[in-house]
Amino acid sequence: MELLHPWRLDFSTQPELKPVPVVSLVLPCFNEQEVLPETTRRLVALLARLEAEGKAAPGSAIYYVDDGSSDGTWRLVSEYAAAFPTVCGIKLSRNRGHQNALLCGLLTAPGEVLVSLDADLQDDLEAIPRMLDAHRAGSEIVYAVRHCRNADSVFKRTSAEGYYRLLSFLGVQVLFNHADFRLMSRRAIESLRGYEETHLFLRGLIPQLGYRTSVVEFERAPRFAGESKYPLRKMLSLAWQGVTSSTAYPLRLITGAGALVSLGSLLLSAWALGIRMFTDQAVPGWASVVIPMYLLGGVQLLSLGIIGEYLAKVYESTKKRPRFHVEAVCGSKLGTGFCGKDQP
Ligand code: UDP
Ligand code: MG
Repeated sequence: MELLHPWRLDFSTQPELKPVPVVSLVLPCFNEQEVLPETTRRLVALLARLEAEGKAAPGSAIYYVDDGSSDGTWRLVSEYAAAFPTVCGIKLSRNRGHQNALLCGLLTAPGEVLVSLDADLQDDLEAIPRMLDAHRAGSEIVYAVRHCRNADSVFKRTSAEGYYRLLSFLGVQVLFNHADFRLMSRRAIESLRGYEETHLFLRGLIPQLGYRTSVVEFERAPRFAGESKYPLRKMLSLAWQGVTSSTAYPLRLITGAGALVSLGSLLLSAWALGIRMFTDQAVPGWASVVIPMYLLGGVQLLSLGIIGEYLAKVYESTKKRPRFHVEAVCGSKLGTGFCGKDQP
């Protein structure tokens, strides 16, 4: 498998346009009280504009998923849901992480087309009308891809780009510079519902769905307010999740390394035997005994650790624990219950 590049994707349009869809905007929020007022103002205006332009059908709405925030996020979401008919909220029982919160929103929100985006206004809202156009032209999934990373720090840019390359090297099918800003049709969402994995890495999972896809480019803005909710610890954990949830290639690398080390040891033994039999320097050196011992010990421990990681994933997956619990909902569109699997 290889890294998908935008130009490798199917851009072809169908002659027949799909009907104007009911659009749901899904935003996971974790302690986002600083950005929510502006985000809501802009999104409510955007939905009104999309409806006026005939790109979104009446009934389109915004779905905030409060991922167990400890600040005033849920209070704000409830207030907005009472004030605007187009705002709804889903409150998780605790912080389950961005990927689970996003999945909860996707599996719970109604609508014919779902657009997932971050709450901090880093994702360009002007890309959404273009994504809807691509959907009407026939795409079931539309990926928004950053065409540059000027808003990111040098560290974030180089580490992120290096990580996409690593995933590609490991055979994970991901879209370069695409995070979780994407449009999915109801059909794609229903297919996603069938994937029951506990360890989510949506950007590696969704390309597995197939269907007709396309790409819309956008420029990522700096965060509107507040601080990143992805500190280094969470970023590393997502990166590790991305590898171990999507590919068993590291296990294969271990096998390869094991084979190489074994071959090296064989050659070393032949050399030692040669010295023993054909020369007078029969006392073997300390280094040739001790160095391989430490080296092999290290390689074995590392290998065991990686195998253990996969085993732990199998263990956790067999428990089939729910990925989230919904504690409360608000807003006119969510009164009739849920369609998510992981419901209370
Ligand atoms: N987020 C979440 N749960 C978490 C961490 C983050 O729902 O545990 C949300 C957050 O509120 C935001 C999105 O995920 O809407 C992306 O987070 P952030 O913007 O902080 O990440 P960054 O852009 O810095 O990578
Ligand atoms: Mg952000």
